[in-house]
Parts: sequence; structure tokens; C-alpha cells
Amino acid sequence: MSIEFEIPKPIAQQQFVLKTVAEEMMRSVSRQLDEEEHLIPYSYIEFMHAAMRATGAGSLAPRAKATKEVDESKPKRPPIGYQLLAHMLEMLSWGDVGMYLVTPGGGLGAAAVEAAASPEQKQKFLARFGEEKPTFAAMCMTEPGAGSDTSAIKTTAVLDEKTNEWVINGEKIFVTAGHKSMIPDEKFGVGFIVVWASIDPSAGRAGMRGFVVEAGTPGVSVTKLEHKLGIRASDTAAISLVDARVPFENVLGSPTVEKQTQKGFKKAMATFDATRPLVAATGLGVARAALEFVQEKLTESGIEIRYGLPRNKLTNIEREVIDMEIMLRSAWLMVIKAVWMADNGKPNALESSMSKVKAGDVSTKVTQKAVELMGPLGYSREFLLEKWFRDAKITDIYEGTGQINRLVVARQILGYGGKELR
Ligand SMILES: Cc1cc2nc3c(=O)[nH]c(=O)nc-3n(C[C@H](O)[C@H](O)[C@H](O)COP(=O)(O)OP(=O)(O)OC[C@H]3O[C@@H](n4cnc5c(N)ncnc54)[C@H](O)[C@@H]3O)c2cc1C
Repeated sequence: MSIEFEIPKPIAQQQFVLKTVAEEMMRSVSRQLDEEEHLIPYSYIEFMHAAMRATGAGSLAPRAKATKEVDESKPKRPPIGYQLLAHMLEMLSWGDVGMYLVTPGGGLGAAAVEAAASPEQKQKFLARFGEEKPTFAAMCMTEPGAGSDTSAIKTTAVLDEKTNEWVINGEKIFVTAGHKSMIPDEKFGVGFIVVWASIDPSAGRAGMRGFVVEAGTPGVSVTKLEHKLGIRASDTAAISLVDARVPFENVLGSPTVEKQTQKGFKKAMATFDATRPLVAATGLGVARAALEFVQEKLTESGIEIRYGLPRNKLTNIEREVIDMEIMLRSAWLMVIKAVWMADNGKPNALESSMSKVKAGDVSTKVTQKAVELMGPLGYSREFLLEKWFRDAKITDIYEGTGQINRLVVARQILGYGGKELR
């Protein structure tokens, strides 16, 4: 088997178009969206929605859809859906990662449905992302008392057998795109959130299920919008659920608990196996923007990096820039491996968390180093570099902090479960 490092043609073509979007539609409004937190970039959202509809890209997670008869005589090309997404997200985040997070198409909510729903549920809940209006979805795992430790989730879902509805109660916080998913806006379609709740608190993680809660469900309200260090174009909401009723069929997975298994929780984790490398890709897009800014400014000052010289012959700044490039490239290779595994149906929990750990470190370090090397240019709001420094940090926080993903990696390598190593 040969290994190719060439970017497949469809990805290269996509990147060419996305670079223009990133330069023309994102960078031009980046500063405004940072300063006017929660301003909604409607023209970007509508453009991306139209473009994604035209190309058939719907929700965040790619679906295996056979559109042509398969010619068995020809060697099968592996699907490249996740690789395509990783490249896309990297480029959009190179443009503006906060704006990328307001790209319609389902985000983490759709990813949770992809990971945990039946084929009928996927059809029912994901079809909306290809319809006329841009539509959002979000995922609610985190609670005031449950972040890294998801076993502490207090939200409950109780089946009302008379009406055949689940009654959900709880408080969710830090929900990315929670506002756009749940608050009516005539320009957007009807969104949803996937709420992780317990159907049997005595069963621990085995009792956890995801529930699709549609916008407009009585008892569900957005109670707060966070003011943040970075990614300020992205809304991060607190959502309260008080006796919120959803139809029986909105539960993702089995409606009963098998106590000896952790199936319910594993579905939640499967969402992250799919999305962590994509989060990693977004952080690396920000880091690449910062590195290229440094390279441009050095070139403008007449400083060229002398590749190929022994390290002891290089100036300090040359060594720093080369080290930043190495960090970026090695992290990117880990992302590509994790998404390649996802595309080829290989379990990638280890590689997925590894890529997120590495990208969390690299995006933080590269943007910090870029600010340091640029001095006042890095600190001034005249340029976007200080913003990228603030934006990058989130890579190491959401979808499992650096520490938690290190734990996942250690458990995978050593063969321990959550109880033995925490
Ligand atoms: C902008 C933003 C968007 C977000 N979007 C979403 C979203 O869409 N949906 C959602 O459900 N959540 C979301 N989150 C929540 C995010 O996933 C959590 O903040 C994260 O999981 C950490 O949980 P916590 O905040 O409760 O911190 P804690 O779990 O309290 O952690 C605090 C610190 O302790 C460390 N720590 C905790 N446990 C251990 C351990 N066992 N070993 C070593 N160190 C440990 C952590 O790494 C961290 O450094 C978002 C957060 C932010 C900031």
C-alpha cells in the first residue's frame, strides 16, 4: 500500500474557493465582529448556506450517500468526507474561527445526531439543514456542576407514559450556537439542541441519553449569553429546561437502561471522536494565520528564513519561526490521520484525542509566540494577531480540555477505563 501526501483534487478545489471566502467575507469583518460581540453576520451565513446547498454539503458530519451505481471492476476510492471537512474548517478558521462557528449546518448538534441516532431519526432531524433557510443546531452537555466530569450531569428525562413524552428538567451552560438554534429569527429555519440527560440517575453513565429538543418547545429558554475572551462572533448560551416535553421518538438510542453497559455514554463520546479532530483543525487554522502574519512582516522587513542551514548557524528568530512551522505541520498530520481513520471506518478515539491535545498546545503556543515575536504589532488592535491569540485558547478548552484528552489518550494506550484512571 502506498501513502500519498497530495491533497485529493476535490479538496484542493474546495480550498481554492474557501480561501477567497476567508479573505473577502471573513477577514474584512473580523474586527467588527470581535468588538461588537454577538452581532450576527447574516450575509456570511446566507452565502455559506447557499454554497453548501449547491454543493450538497448539509450537516457537519458527512453522510455516506451512494449517488451513482458502483462499478465493482474499478478500485474503490475511500470516502474523504471528514478529510474534506477538516481542510474546510482549517481554512475557514484561518479566515475567522468565531465566524466559522456561526456557519449554519448543524454543528455539534448534528454531529450528536449522526453519532447516536437511528437512520430514521437522522432523516427526520438532519433534512432541515439542506432546506431553504440556514438552520442551526447545538449540543448541551455541560452544566453548572458538570463539565469535565460528565457523570455529574443532573439533567433528567422522565417518560410520561400517559402522553408518551419525555419530560426534561435541567440547566445547561456554555452551549455553542445555543441562541441561534433556539431563538426564533425569521431569516433562520427551526433549529434544535441535543440535550444529554439521565433517564435513570441510579445507573450513572449507562443512563445517559441524548434528546432532540426542537426550538419553540415550551419550558426551554435561553437565560444568558456569555461575554468571552475570544471567538466573540460565536454565541455561547445558557439554556434552562423546565418540564420541557419532547416526543418519545426524540430519544437518541435505547429508551431503556442496560445497567452493565455504558452504551448511552459511549454514544456521547462517539460524537467527540468525530468532532475532536475537526476542533483541532480549527485551532490550527488560527495558528497558521498567526504564523503567516509573522512571516509576512519578516519578509517586509527584509528578513528571510534560511532553511537548510545547521541550527547553530541560524538566528534566534529563524529558529523560532522554523519551530513554529514544525509544530504546526506535526499537529496537522495528526489531524489528517484521525480524520482519515474516521473516513475509513476505523475506531479513532485515541488519534482523535491525540490530535486535539496536540492542536490545543500548538495553537496556543504558536499564537503566543507570534505575539511575542511581533512585539507591539502583536499587541496592537490595529492587526488581528492579538485576536487570534485570544481565539486560539478555546481549542484547548471545549470538547474536552487538554487535561481530559490526555486522560483519554492514557486510558486508550494503557487499556484502563474511566474508573481506574481519572
Ligand atoms: C466558548 C465555549 C464553548 C463551549 N461550547 C460547549 C458546547 O457547545 N456544548 C457543551 O456541552 N459544552 C460546551 N462548552 C463547555 C466545555 O466543554 C467545558 O467548559 C469543558 O468541558 C470544561 O468543563 P468545566 O468548564 O466545567 O471545567 P472543569 O471540568 O471544572 O475543569 C476545570 C479545570 O480542571 C481540569 N480538570 C478537570 N478534571 C480533571 C481531571 N480529572 N484531571 C486533570 N485535570 C482536570 C480541567 O482540565 C480544567 O483545566 C464550551 C465552553 C466554552 C468556554
